[in-house]
Amino acid sequence: MRVLVIGSGGREHALCRALALDPAVSELHCAPGNAGIAEVASTHAVTPADPGQVTSLATRLRADLVVVGPEAPLVAGVADAVRAAGIPCFGPSKEAARVEGSKAFAKEVMTAAGVPTAGARVCVTREEAEAALDAFGAPYVVKDDGLAAGKGVVVTSDREEALAHAAACERVVVEEFLDGPEVSLFALCDGATAVPLQPAQDFKRAYDGDKGPNTGGMGAYTPLPWAPEWLTERVMDEVVLPTVRELARRGTPYTGVLYAGLALTSAGPKVIEFNARFGDPETQVVLDRLETPLAGLLLACATGALAGEPAPRYREGAAVTVVVAAENYPADPVKGDRLEGLRTAAKDAYVLHAGTALDAGGHVVSAGGRVLSVVGTGPDVAAARAAAYALVDGIRLRGSHHRTDIAALA
Ligand code: AMP
Repeated sequence: MRVLVIGSGGREHALCRALALDPAVSELHCAPGNAGIAEVASTHAVTPADPGQVTSLATRLRADLVVVGPEAPLVAGVADAVRAAGIPCFGPSKEAARVEGSKAFAKEVMTAAGVPTAGARVCVTREEAEAALDAFGAPYVVKDDGLAAGKGVVVTSDREEALAHAAACERVVVEEFLDGPEVSLFALCDGATAVPLQPAQDFKRAYDGDKGPNTGGMGAYTPLPWAPEWLTERVMDEVVLPTVRELARRGTPYTGVLYAGLALTSAGPKVIEFNARFGDPETQVVLDRLETPLAGLLLACATGALAGEPAPRYREGAAVTVVVAAENYPADPVKGDRLEGLRTAAKDAYVLHAGTALDAGGHVVSAGGRVLSVVGTGPDVAAARAAAYALVDGIRLRGSHHRTDIAALA
């Protein structure tokens, strides 16, 4: 199987690593990729959110499967263009990807499908925002109704701060605050049905103790030793399958990962948000534990053949990932600094690249906010965590920062 992965982050490195381990994959390509992905796949300088460029590359490579990593290409219609060229594509259509691209659309679909989620109101004017804030009460949750790379949400008890965020956005969704631990569940969907992957938890705030600004994600782990046994089955029955059926009923079948960000409230799991793609960095840990060959699973989704596939299998043990971020991430990350210590060998940990590139001398340099995603594995979360941090401690990047409490309370 010839597989083309679209994207350039830690998630895409994890996808490429897992695909490279699948014996069914004979050729692996990635566009545009990064310095680490280039070690396992042929990389191509293509603009990932350009449907024409991606489709012509996939056609030229005679790809049997295209896997779209990030949200921007999905929202730009890359999956539609690839499928129109007759190539199976793992990733939702532009229309179905609106479950992530528009928070208002996601709420509408959830309401129609009877999916448990926070009460919400779409607001445009200051008066509407004020009324909604007062209706739900503090803490206030105000979300930009567009793609904001995980950074468009303000959760605050300060009414003025909530109003200022609303004023800075064209349209916002004001929501009821959901209390309870957060869980990410990825479901692989083929348009008609879906299978779950193992739940994971991520850490969105920049600093230890869940302090500081929201980021794309600073670390993650799986499995969740504290999660109730019924969690996955209940989320499939109450959230994922109703949503997949509702989207199919509307004539916009969902093919790809439906990522449910959930709060485990006292009234049961409720959806905080949907994403239309694998989460970064949860993918790094979930795919580490997945035993079922990945390419076959993703192709089954892309071709509507999931019903005939056995359920995904997992390895025993746990995985923890710690993100090494550039100086001044998330505000304005410093780029172009050299990385040292990447070659440190460890039997129970490895480095996935995110924002990296090669300089003129062939040395790996920082090229993005989240630079690396270091994955540790072990028989349990504590061992996996120790393995990840042992490897992180050997890596040098001027000014970089990482959280020291990923999975500490697991
Ligand atoms: P989102 O981009 O929707 O995932 O929001 C980012 C983060 O904001 C989430 O991971 C939560 O920690 C928090 N958040 C979003 N919506 C809510 C809500 N309704 N109640 C409590 N926290 C929320």
